[in-house]
Amino acid sequence: MSQSTEFATNSNPNDDYLPSNLSLPTYIPLHYSLGSNFNKILQSGSRGNDLTPQALKQHINLVNQYIDHIISNDSLDFNENILNNYLKTYKNLIISKIKLSQIEKLSNETILKQYISPNLNLNLTNLDEYHQSVNPSVEEFISSKENELISSNYQINQFIKSDKLYQLLRSLTFIMKNPEDPVPDEDNDDDDAIGISGGKVSLKDPITLNQFVEPVITSCNHTFEKSSIQQQMLTHRYGPFECPISGCDSVLNSNSFKIDKLMKARVKAFNKMEKNKDDDLDLVN
Ligand SMILES: [Zn+2]
Repeated sequence: MSQSTEFATNSNPNDDYLPSNLSLPTYIPLHYSLGSNFNKILQSGSRGNDLTPQALKQHINLVNQYIDHIISNDSLDFNENILNNYLKTYKNLIISKIKLSQIEKLSNETILKQYISPNLNLNLTNLDEYHQSVNPSVEEFISSKENELISSNYQINQFIKSDKLYQLLRSLTFIMKNPEDPVPDEDNDDDDAIGISGGKVSLKDPITLNQFVEPVITSCNHTFEKSSIQQQMLTHRYGPFECPISGCDSVLNSNSFKIDKLMKARVKAFNKMEKNKDDDLDLVN
């Protein structure tokens, strides 16, 4: 410790080896030759160096394959743990992707551009002047942006609300236990509200009143049995026709339908529950 005595004006024992009057810059501008590397890191996602977009793509494929596989096999049922894991992973990947794009945007900020290539020819005499000219400091700027990224749940919520696959996954996890209930909003934390909103989702074709086997959903969000709609198309000679739901004025054509995966899953979950009830009764008898 003897060699430090000449600097020992500071009482903090951790600083014993440093002179107390040493003023380190709050940040040091990057040498211009490193600037391009800095930019590369910021734009890593769009350049394909980051694994998130690729992982997200793979995950979407995996989830779609799983859903389609279960939907198209009458003997198979959805597994709750698998659905929950897929949902959790999907959300995390979406969050990573959004944060990545936010970080990429940082590279367009003037303050960072100035940091990478300052307008001044920096030397020891004008370093202080340079530091004062950049306000807030890059350090403050980045940490403020970090906080912004961490608290920017709004963008994430907006994204997942409009993401069809995310909503399908979330709905599937819900309807497994509640096949006839409308899926509650994610924002709605109040569990009681589900019961109050009432109204069951019909698992029957509105035209034949038979339980759905191959449900299809229209562009106006009405679900029909495929064969019923085919009958409608035939009646209208495959020309445009009005949605059969009274009060719905939508005009449909052969391109207005796609498989209603959620309805198909509802019927599956409902029939499984009914079967379990029957099995329980058999045991009692
Ligand atoms: Zn309709």
